[in-house]
Amino acid sequence: MARKRPKQRAAVGVLGKLLTRRSHGRCELCEGRDDNRLYELPPFPEEPDPDRTLLACARCRGWLEGAPIDAAEARFLSAAIWSTLPPVRLAAARLLLTIDFADDPWLRDALDAADVDPASGEFREAS
Ligand SMILES: [Zn+2]
Repeated sequence: MARKRPKQRAAVGVLGKLLTRRSHGRCELCEGRDDNRLYELPPFPEEPDPDRTLLACARCRGWLEGAPIDAAEARFLSAAIWSTLPPVRLAAARLLLTIDFADDPWLRDALDAADVDPASGEFREAS
């Protein structure tokens, strides 16, 4: 995805306590503990929203910012996309889509279950 990524906002800090509790201080994608910080998924809502924000480690934040993803290292994403938490599903879906097997039937099913549109990398409109 070549879309431009806006800079993370300081205002998202208000979600710190909530997300630390939700995540137990672990990266919500890989459960890692390396330099976990809040990460807002663009496009940002007007106010910071826990459903658009996740706690993510340095590696996962780098990937979300467009760093090259090592597919072998990224196997945990295939579990994360089944998360009950919308921001974790969306982040996992976007990362899986950048690994370029969007034609994989497994990924299509997972995106369907996550309710993410592969074309836009966004949740489908509620019908
Ligand atoms: Zn991580």
